[in-house]
Amino acid sequence: MSKKLSLPAQILIALVAGIAVGLVCYFTGTKDITTAYLKPFGDIFVNLMKFIVVPVVLLSMIDGIISMNDMRKVGSVGIKTVAYFMVTTAIACVIGLVFANIFKAAGLFPILDPNSAEYDAKEFGGFMSTLVSIFPTNMWKSFTEANMLQVIVISLFLGGSILAAGEKAQLCRDFVTSAYAVIEKLMGFIISLAPIGVFTYMAWVVATQGSEILLSLLLVIICAYLGYVVHAVLVYSASAQVFAGMSPIAFFKGAFAAMIFAFTSASSAATLPVAKECAAEMGAEDDIASFVLPLGSTINMDGTAIYQCVATVFLASCANINLTLGQMVIVVLTATLASIGTAGVSGAGMIMLAMVLETLGIPVSYIGLIVAVDRIFDMGRTCLNVTGDISCAVCVTKWEGRKEAAKR
Ligand code: ASP
Repeated sequence: MSKKLSLPAQILIALVAGIAVGLVCYFTGTKDITTAYLKPFGDIFVNLMKFIVVPVVLLSMIDGIISMNDMRKVGSVGIKTVAYFMVTTAIACVIGLVFANIFKAAGLFPILDPNSAEYDAKEFGGFMSTLVSIFPTNMWKSFTEANMLQVIVISLFLGGSILAAGEKAQLCRDFVTSAYAVIEKLMGFIISLAPIGVFTYMAWVVATQGSEILLSLLLVIICAYLGYVVHAVLVYSASAQVFAGMSPIAFFKGAFAAMIFAFTSASSAATLPVAKECAAEMGAEDDIASFVLPLGSTINMDGTAIYQCVATVFLASCANINLTLGQMVIVVLTATLASIGTAGVSGAGMIMLAMVLETLGIPVSYIGLIVAVDRIFDMGRTCLNVTGDISCAVCVTKWEGRKEAAKR
C-alpha cells in the first residue's frame, strides 16, 4: 500500500520544484509562461484561502470564546496574547533598527536617487481616526470588505454576548459550533491544495523578479532577512524553550508547513488555516489557538515591523537624513503601530510604511525605490509574522495550563 506524503513534505517538494521550474523559465527567457499559465493557479488557491478567511476568523474566534466558557479566561488569554504580541513586535523593531544601522554605518546600503521614485501613498488620518475606524457601523460591510480588525471586534462582542446570555443562547452556541465544523472541513480541503499554490507561485516569483533591480537592492534585502532570521532564532527559539518547554527544532519543525506556505503566499490571512493545523499538531489548545491565531494574523506582524524599520533607515539614508536616537524611538513606536494596522495580505506592510515615513518627515514617494522588490521582502516578513502567531498560541496554551494546574 502506498503511504501518502505528509503535507509539509508535499509543500517542500512543491517549493523545490517551483524554484527549479522558475529558474528554467528565467534562463530560457520563457518567464511569461509562468505569469500566463502558472500564477493563475496560485491566484485561484489564494482566492480560495481569502474566501474562507472571514468565516474562519469570525467563527473561530467566537467558537474559541464560547469554548473557554468563562469571560475571565477570555480576558486572561487576551491579555497574555496582546502582551506577547506587543513585546515581540517591539523587540523586532529594535532588531531591525540595529541591523539597518550596522549596514548603514558600514556603507553597505546603496544610495539611490530618490527623484527617480514614484509612489502614490495613501493618506493617513492619524491615530485617533484609525482607532475609531476599528469599530464597525455595519456588520455586513465589514464582512464584504474583509475588514479584519472590524471582524475581530464583531467576534469579541458576539462571543462575549453569547456567554453573557447563558442558556438562552444555546441555539447560537450550537449554530456556531456546527458552522465552524463545516468551515473546518472546507478549510481542510482547501489546505490539501496548498502544494499547488506553493509550486505555481514559487515558479512565478523566481522567473519574474527582475535581476537588475534585485541586485541593486540585494544588500537591503539581506539586511531585512538577517533581521527576520535573528528574530526567529532568538525570540521564537527562546520562547519555545523557556515558556513552552519545547526544543527550538521541534518548534520550527512543527511550524514548517505554515512557514513555507506564508513565505510563498505572502499573506498571513491566507495562511491562517495552515497555521491552525500546525499549532494543533504542536499541542496548542484548540480554544486558545482559535482565539490567538486569527487575532495574530491581523495584528501581530513582527516581520513587517523589521521590514518597516530597515526600509525607514534605508530610505532616510537615500534622502541624506541621519536619524537621531529620539527619532529611532519614534520609529519603534510608529512601526509597532503600523504593523498592527497592517492587514494580513500581500503588500500591506509597504502601504503602512508610509505612516512611519510620514511621521519622520521622509517623503513617502521614496517608497517607489523599493516597490519593485516588495514581494521578496514580503515573503520573508509574512513567514516571520505567521511563526510569531504560532509561537504565541503555543506559549499561551502553556501559561494557561500552568494556571489551571496551580488552581487544582
Ligand atoms: N504580507 C504580510 C502578511 O500578510 C503583511 C505585510 O505586507 O507586511 O502578514
